[in-house]
Amino acid sequence: MTDTYRHQGLRRKLVETIKSKGIRDERVLDAIGKIPRHLFLDSSFTEIAYQDKPFPIGLGQTISQPYTVAFQTELLEVKPGDKILEIGTGSGYQACVLFEMGAKVFSIERHRELHKKSKALLNKMGYTPKLFYGDGYKGLPTFAPFDKILVTAGAPEIPDDLLKQLKVGGFMVIPVGKGGSQVMFRLKKTSDSEFEKEEFGHFRFVPLLGKKD
Ligand code: SAM
Repeated sequence: MTDTYRHQGLRRKLVETIKSKGIRDERVLDAIGKIPRHLFLDSSFTEIAYQDKPFPIGLGQTISQPYTVAFQTELLEVKPGDKILEIGTGSGYQACVLFEMGAKVFSIERHRELHKKSKALLNKMGYTPKLFYGDGYKGLPTFAPFDKILVTAGAPEIPDDLLKQLKVGGFMVIPVGKGGSQVMFRLKKTSDSEFEKEEFGHFRFVPLLGKKD
């Protein structure tokens, strides 16, 4: 669990890189500057953990590229105290970014092994978002409604259950598309049944998975 001066230096460079790519929210940049990304990766990635790239985390899944994490987080306009649901805990890195920004974070992961691994790591690091093993398509009705919902895997369509669990006035950020490429959408819930939809370009995510066979 060491975070050396070298790691800290590489992290500062990473923050400069994502800033140069257009991320402006200082609170997002601060969170990325604080979180030791190398700890979320296998030790063989320690030297390259601060490159602005996605990396494998096992079971065919990835930790997202830092720029993508920052981009989605910026779109969420996170405020301290926001109750945020993340779909796709993966390594737990994105959940920590939201937590570091003062949000109350709930995150669901469909792979039990990844859920267990991220839970153990975050406990060790002292981060305490609420992590759940389950199917993100269903959200967390018991804990709804949420101020914000963030989907970190490519969804073939926008899941109805998640729309229902969003507060009026809340945002959902979700990459939507079948196949290897998705369009990033931000939906604002303007009434119980109405949404405003904005589009933010193309991204590549691993797919949101349906029920286990
Ligand atoms: N947010 C993660 C991080 O910070 O490391 C990266 C997410 S990774 C790109 C997508 C994750 O979504 C994978 O861990 C995958 O197992 C998970 N996933 C896919 N389908 C899901 C579903 N239906 N419910 C919950 N998680 C799901």
